[in-house]
Amino acid sequence: MNKSVPATLIPGDGVGPEIVDATTSILGALQAPFEWDIRKAGMTGMKESGDPLPPETIESIRRTGLALKGPLETPVGGGYRSSNVRLREEFHLYANVRPALTLMPGGRYEKIDLVTIRENTEGLYVGFEHYIPIDGDPHAVAIGSGVNTRAGCRRIAEFAFEYAVKHGRRKVTIVHKANILKALTGLFRETAQEVGRAYEGRVQVDERIVDACAMQLVLDPWQFDVIVTTNLFGDIISDEIAGLVGGLGMAPGANIGENVAIFEAVHGSAPDIAGKGIANPLALILASAMMLAHVGCHDLAARLRQSIDITLNQDAIRTRDLGGSASTREFADALIRRL
Ligand code: NAD
Repeated sequence: MNKSVPATLIPGDGVGPEIVDATTSILGALQAPFEWDIRKAGMTGMKESGDPLPPETIESIRRTGLALKGPLETPVGGGYRSSNVRLREEFHLYANVRPALTLMPGGRYEKIDLVTIRENTEGLYVGFEHYIPIDGDPHAVAIGSGVNTRAGCRRIAEFAFEYAVKHGRRKVTIVHKANILKALTGLFRETAQEVGRAYEGRVQVDERIVDACAMQLVLDPWQFDVIVTTNLFGDIISDEIAGLVGGLGMAPGANIGENVAIFEAVHGSAPDIAGKGIANPLALILASAMMLAHVGCHDLAARLRQSIDITLNQDAIRTRDLGGSASTREFADALIRRL
């Protein structure tokens, strides 16, 4: 019997409660050791306590150091600042790990096995932006600044190379735009290459300019193994990579810092299908497998992954986004039968 592991559970917004419910029932059937402390955030936090990131939620994560999180809604344009970005800043979750693995043969691309390691706290996502009003137009000019630090670049590069060594990966590709953003992403490139030199003979170092990388990911994704990149590029490229393995419904992510790790699906709250019971819970289930491995329950993570494979490929039970007809609950129940 595994020792219990306290963890914060944030059902989140939109399809969040549906996929979180499916995932926790699977983890329960697996006898995973998590002891959940359920907390609110996002639009649900805003509506119920006037704060998209209530202090009780922050305190819970500080105490447990571990969270499984449903998607959180962020208003576009105006409104409150993203709770996801605030969580990353609050807990210095500097590394965003997004693995993409082909789980179902017969798609557009076969045998994809790629990991994006995205810097999660710096770059253009620091939100240093403002408008300059001119002639009565309050939005006449928009200005945004990015911030990269050598320490931050070194930390994410070291994380990526260590990840490669630990997971038996052969190559790390540094993705940047140092031909145009010479300072902002030039510093990232220079620092990551310097870190890479210490891994010579163990991990191959490669580099790409982000736009060329985006095209090559479509033409020949198999040339890549681990990609390390800055915040904005990582956000975009990892969604592109999710598309290579069947879409956002299959893409898990982990946000890792020194003391806290938060696991989530890469996708958002999917307001167009919320409440219909048809969301694909796989991305969050895969995130929970990463969470199991993170706390050392490798056997449970492997069992969960194996059951996912059998449910998808032998039983052919899939949600609609994957061409099937199963509801969120039906998929979860089918997976539980295979555990
Ligand atoms: P989205 O990922 O919610 O949806 C994009 C498309 O993918 C939609 O058609 C949706 O139905 C589909 N989709 C997403 N998840 C699915 C699933 N599990 N199963 C089946 N189909 C799925 O992106 P969006 O519409 O741009 O964003 C909606 C909200 O989510 C916004 O408020 C955004 O800020 C937020 N968001 C949150 C996170 C997060 O919490 N990590 C990430 C991205 C977006």
